[in-house]
Amino acid sequence: MRFDVLTIFPAMFESYLGQSLLKKAIDAGKISVHLHDLREWSGDKHNKVDDRPFGGGPGMVIRVQPVVEAVEAIQSQGDAPPHVILLTPQGRKLSQPVVEELATKPRLLLLCGRYEGFDQRVIDILAPDEISIGDYVLNGGEVAAMAIIDACIRLVPGVLGDEESSHTDSFSSGNRLLEGAQYTRPREYRGHEVPEVLLGGNHQQIALWRAAESLQKTTERRSDLLTPEEIAKRTPQRKRS
Ligand code: SAM
Repeated sequence: MRFDVLTIFPAMFESYLGQSLLKKAIDAGKISVHLHDLREWSGDKHNKVDDRPFGGGPGMVIRVQPVVEAVEAIQSQGDAPPHVILLTPQGRKLSQPVVEELATKPRLLLLCGRYEGFDQRVIDILAPDEISIGDYVLNGGEVAAMAIIDACIRLVPGVLGDEESSHTDSFSSGNRLLEGAQYTRPREYRGHEVPEVLLGGNHQQIALWRAAESLQKTTERRSDLLTPEEIAKRTPQRKRS
């Protein structure tokens, strides 16, 4: 999977790309991340990409010309045309099903806003997929772009050491509920013991315990996830006589 990121702060990604799962996935050729500095398309001798809003008001707005020309130039690179995402608090909200949808695309181009956001004509001309990572306002789209990259790469085959874990994660396609409690050694710490069932090696009992834990946690914390479909999946079907 290929990611292209258009930003005025490409250096923000350097440490992020050089660590952990992401670095391993890049080194293994499973994903690639291409950073593009929007200022290269400013067409301005001071490399300015923003200007004051028409009609007045606070802050600055990112100009339409650098963004549209940068996107056209980036689109002409690489094998597959990118799915263009514009990060904005006004977009459709990121969730695991949205991540699953995005992870099926061979290539994403992520447009990171700053200041008061983009000139409306960026949206009118490019018709991007507008995505928000939640109902709060960040200073820029870079953190949101990293969240999308991070969530998507977990679903790219071969990126996770243990393929199973992305299917059992909270909200994931294998388990739309919250994941239950997890334990590792030691068996007891300050009087807190690991549940006996996890120590017995009976995989069927462990699976039943985990399913019950997941259901209980979801009921307590996120009952909105218990949709009629999820309840039906967990309700034993009566045999017809
Ligand atoms: N004035 C804009 C508004 O009220 O909708 C907010 C602009 S914000 C300060 C600057 C940039 O940060 C946005 O253009 C967007 O790229 C990014 N951003 C802020 N909050 C975001 C969120 N919740 N999800 C995705 N991107 C966000």
